[in-house]
Amino acid sequence: MKISRVESTVLSVPVERSFVGSVEFKTFNPIVVEVFTDEGLSAHGLTMVFNGMNIKPLKACVDAVAETIVGVDVFRWAQAWETLWKTAKRIGHNGFGVYALAAVDMALWNLRAKALEMPLAKVLGGFRDEVPVYASNYLWRDRTIDELQKEAADLVAQGFPAVKMRMGWKSHKEDIARLAAIREAVGPDIDIMVDVLWVWETYESIVMGREMEKYGVYWLEDPIPSHNVDGLSQIAAALDMPVVSGEDISLKRGFRELFERKATDIAMIDVQAVGGVTEWMKVAAMAEAYNLPVVSHLFDEFSLHLVAAIPNGLWTEHMPWWEAIYRDPPQPKNGWIKVPQVPGIGYELDRDAMARLRM
Ligand SMILES: [Mg+2]
Repeated sequence: MKISRVESTVLSVPVERSFVGSVEFKTFNPIVVEVFTDEGLSAHGLTMVFNGMNIKPLKACVDAVAETIVGVDVFRWAQAWETLWKTAKRIGHNGFGVYALAAVDMALWNLRAKALEMPLAKVLGGFRDEVPVYASNYLWRDRTIDELQKEAADLVAQGFPAVKMRMGWKSHKEDIARLAAIREAVGPDIDIMVDVLWVWETYESIVMGREMEKYGVYWLEDPIPSHNVDGLSQIAAALDMPVVSGEDISLKRGFRELFERKATDIAMIDVQAVGGVTEWMKVAAMAEAYNLPVVSHLFDEFSLHLVAAIPNGLWTEHMPWWEAIYRDPPQPKNGWIKVPQVPGIGYELDRDAMARLRM
């Protein structure tokens, strides 16, 4: 079975109410990449930016990388990845070169699972058929204390066993007050993750981390920039709660440094930033060799398969940012999400919605 053509479509999915994470988010822009075969099968993968930023160069990178796999044997997955990698290398080892490669690699794996008539999770290892999810798309930096408490209580009522809040936008005192308010709203039994989105220094991460431990915070995510591996090692050594990093790290060599230097207690692997399903699985296996659990970042529709495939998968992040593009998007229930028992990822594109959201 060979790839006969590839198509990419740029979409713009508006956010119902804007929110502040690393920036203020107003729209999400997935680029859907569809691969077609000489035997009539097709499947999609995707990459994304937000607020329309740099969407044209990303689309150009996707198309440049994608055209190199026309004619490639679908099941020679390592050969396909190397082919994509060689083109992506000229575009960049980080950022769009890797994003473009990842989108095509995701589409290829979705296609392989469809061709084998199995769920992707099973093709990749099939460790289990459902995965725990935590609520991530809430408790943003710009929400008031009242809003945080209402949202947090609502997430608990929906059955989520864990919620993620953000820090690093307000003063330290205000951040701790916001954490205390969320703890009060969710009670003692719900896990709270805290994501700092890379804004602190090493010393303040340790000082704040010690305060946060008093509220039973489950993990401290990205307190400082990921390239500061020494700083991450110091924070991880100083705190009892786990430090989590990795979502913006590309390729296995980036993770090798984190693991070797004990700079993260849990590996957060983003299927886009790391370089697709192929590279995600390799990094997850490396993490296993270092006795580290793995969590996913974004891309529910692919990530739940990846976490379900491996023995060291800990959590799937639920982030329904572009669920409007699917006929029947991933739906967590009581903190779990089931792997769709159909060929591929099991989420089919809603063509009417795509026509409406096309950029
Ligand atoms: Mg994060």
